[in-house]
Amino acid sequence: MWGQAWGNIYDIAAPQGLPGPGYDLTASLQAKGYDATRMMKTGEGFYTAMGMAPLPETFWSRSMITRPRDREVVCHASAWDVDNDQDVRVKMCTRVNADDFYTVHHELGHNVYQRAYAKQPFLFRGGANDGFHEAIGDFVGLSALTPTYLKQIGVIDTVPGPEADIPYLLKMSMDKIAFLPFGLLVDKWRWQVFSGQVDPAHYNEAWWKLRTQYQGLTPPGPRPADAFDPGAKFHVADSTPYTRYFLAQVYQFQFYRAACRQAGWTGPLNRCSVYGDKAVGQKFEAMMAMGQSKPWPEALEAFTGEKDLDASAIADYFAPLNLWLTQQNKGQQCGW
Ligand SMILES: [Zn+2]
Repeated sequence: MWGQAWGNIYDIAAPQGLPGPGYDLTASLQAKGYDATRMMKTGEGFYTAMGMAPLPETFWSRSMITRPRDREVVCHASAWDVDNDQDVRVKMCTRVNADDFYTVHHELGHNVYQRAYAKQPFLFRGGANDGFHEAIGDFVGLSALTPTYLKQIGVIDTVPGPEADIPYLLKMSMDKIAFLPFGLLVDKWRWQVFSGQVDPAHYNEAWWKLRTQYQGLTPPGPRPADAFDPGAKFHVADSTPYTRYFLAQVYQFQFYRAACRQAGWTGPLNRCSVYGDKAVGQKFEAMMAMGQSKPWPEALEAFTGEKDLDASAIADYFAPLNLWLTQQNKGQQCGW
């Protein structure tokens, strides 16, 4: 409802006649009999295949991975580091679908990062910056969604041909590119609020002004004067900073491009999976183990060789789609 991810309306938004990505991940997971635990185990399996330690036994006994029947809980998925050491857990009402398959890898990324820097002095046990913390699992998720990997673990039976690349990238862009303006505007709004630039009477108006400016969205109908639409976003109500997700959206592609280069991948970037690559895993874990002990550009450099936030990795990933869209949109007036 925030227009932050559009992938789930791919089937009604994609141009008619364009083939799909060649498989339906939700249907495949359900057909193969996945349940919440197996989703989580599969997520863990990606990290262990890269050489990282299996999750501790307490993860399985203390995490909440399905919605409890007997009480209300906050179902917004989250990962926790209870003792700043080995007691890592997730809290998630896992359902068997493509979204949650991705989310499992995302949340476990937090736990894997937490364990990697647990040997640092207490004050350095944290992400290089909070964007890093969000990007670890997203980077792994980029591999975990590839047909290359899904075939390797038997979720799908055949890898679709090159005709599936544009649909795959288009669907991916509806999540990853469409997120960027939203990822930016949440804190832009919040900073206006905190600075007093916007007063309470204009909270909602200011919210929709940014929604229109950055996302091209308007409310589906008139909003009453006392409406508070930003409060519907978990991170606003929960007071969780949001720029981290914008940054992570860029970092994850930098991690991914670097990992694929290290793995010697020569095919299209969108098909690269570093599953099972222990050399990449070792280098990645070394970066994670730095925690907050060094400024983030040094952590970034340790794995990618790059010192700056660099969106060219996103451009590289989506290059074939960009070319295709440029042709498709020829003569069209784009914008709002
Ligand atoms: Zn997260």
